[in-house]
Amino acid sequence: MTQADTIARPTGQKIEHVDVLIVGAGISGVGSAYHLLDQAPDKSFAVLEAYETFGGTWHMHTYPGVRSDSDLYTFGYRFKPWVGAPIASSAEIKKYMGEVITEHGLDKYIRYSHKITKASWSSLESRWTVDVTRSDTNESFQMTASFLWMCQGYYKHSEGYTPEWPGMDSYKGRIVHPQTWPKDLDYTGKKVLVIGSGATAATIVPAIAADAEHVTVLQRSPTFFVPGRNANELADTLRQLEISDEWIHEIVRRKTLFDQQQVTKMAVEYPDLVRDTLLDGIRPLLPEGYDIGKHFTPKYRPWQQRIAFVPDGDLFAGIKSGKASMVTDEIETFTATGVRTKGGENLEADIVVTATGFHLSVLGDIPFDLDGTPVNWADTVTYRGMMFTGIPNLAWVFGYFRASWTLRVDIMGDFIARLFKNMEAKGAKVVTPTLRAEDADMKIGPWMDPDNFNPNYLVRSQHLMPKSGTKSEWQHNQDYWVEKDILPTADLNDGCLKYS
Ligand SMILES: Cc1cc2nc3c(=O)[nH]c(=O)nc-3n(C[C@H](O)[C@H](O)[C@H](O)COP(=O)(O)OP(=O)(O)OC[C@H]3O[C@@H](n4cnc5c(N)ncnc54)[C@H](O)[C@@H]3O)c2cc1C
Repeated sequence: MTQADTIARPTGQKIEHVDVLIVGAGISGVGSAYHLLDQAPDKSFAVLEAYETFGGTWHMHTYPGVRSDSDLYTFGYRFKPWVGAPIASSAEIKKYMGEVITEHGLDKYIRYSHKITKASWSSLESRWTVDVTRSDTNESFQMTASFLWMCQGYYKHSEGYTPEWPGMDSYKGRIVHPQTWPKDLDYTGKKVLVIGSGATAATIVPAIAADAEHVTVLQRSPTFFVPGRNANELADTLRQLEISDEWIHEIVRRKTLFDQQQVTKMAVEYPDLVRDTLLDGIRPLLPEGYDIGKHFTPKYRPWQQRIAFVPDGDLFAGIKSGKASMVTDEIETFTATGVRTKGGENLEADIVVTATGFHLSVLGDIPFDLDGTPVNWADTVTYRGMMFTGIPNLAWVFGYFRASWTLRVDIMGDFIARLFKNMEAKGAKVVTPTLRAEDADMKIGPWMDPDNFNPNYLVRSQHLMPKSGTKSEWQHNQDYWVEKDILPTADLNDGCLKYS
């Protein structure tokens, strides 16, 4: 089928059908739509987005200072040059995505305020039926699609993760989560306590420190940070030489990826050296004699969790000026006026910001079924971190943790387009990852090896995720530098994918 069309249902109700349905218009959905149009232009498709606009993460996060923690030369798509400073605000990222949508005419495929609430596979019809609710008109209807290209992200958008602490009910101030930052929150002249010290906290603290009376960061355990100028010298030099934006994007992207690969390798081979180098980088930015061992030396190895970039060292400037301070301790209880730590410190606060992360969401928490049998994703094994055993015609764009998420949007776009061509060549309507006879004795384990990467949200919810095997075909190996060579040539006829 090459055109969006309709099929008649027994009830007489007309249902729109597309070859490919992309779910979500975040950075993954927009990039995937580009690749689909570019590499499989004969496929009919639509992008359904629950929000009233594109951007996903970059639309819904509105806390002060919200910005990327990756450089945009790699977080940007490979096909659209980035021309700004490497670390970008959410507004800049949305502008960039908006340009991609306009330049490639993607607007006519994206339907906003369309939320998918259920997805059912029919073996008889070889297609998915999705239930859709429109938040702008309150209409509910169904659509069908031969293939679901899931770009709905990996965390729950509706609410962030806030642990339950004793005494929270007795606290008289306001508790806010960065994911649902209230528009009316006035922190001017207020004492703010930020719980958590990941990239989000590192962004919020400098953004509010000047206006707040004081900002205290309470962390259970420290995080690694890399301070640096929000500029790319190579990009600036090439721009001075009037090299084209396309070339600059490609060169700086390659150089950044090369450097990141070296750092990642070093972090595995020489963790102590990398740790010392990271700590040496922040020492001069902190007050003389500051207890770096206590507040900035994580228990984990560098790169076991994401390393947060701090543009222009703004977090440390706040600490140096005395407007912000760090407390490394655990919460014993909330009190009426703040928090008491297990170490016995009373931290007074008018506002508590819980920068404590998010809830992992598996396939958008959409109920899926196969011919009426509900899908339990934890019973499936992933095929290369994008498809799942027993689940036909579906791929999930799950990016990288250690490298920019979007790098995987591009290489998965190539992979899926190649998969579609392979299906056409075989005359197949359905592709289903299936363990081969030779995989029968393969050890099946969690989605991600906790020794390799262990952020809290993943540790908390890994039991809900699809499983991994010990062979590379059955893993999301999270290594861009390996995948960029493997995926383009991966054998689509090695028996892992069953075609019918
Ligand atoms: C504050 C913050 C900063 C980050 N910074 C970086 C960074 O610098 N570098 C990096 O690599 N990663 C970063 N990440 C990770 C980031 O989430 C990803 O890089 C990327 O933005 C995810 O894009 P996505 O399109 O896959 O998902 P999302 O941005 O989550 O977008 C998913 C979209 O799908 C829609 N959707 C979901 N369910 C449905 C449904 N049922 N029906 C219809 N539509 C649906 C949502 O409304 C949303 O618009 C950051 C994350 C956060 C929270």
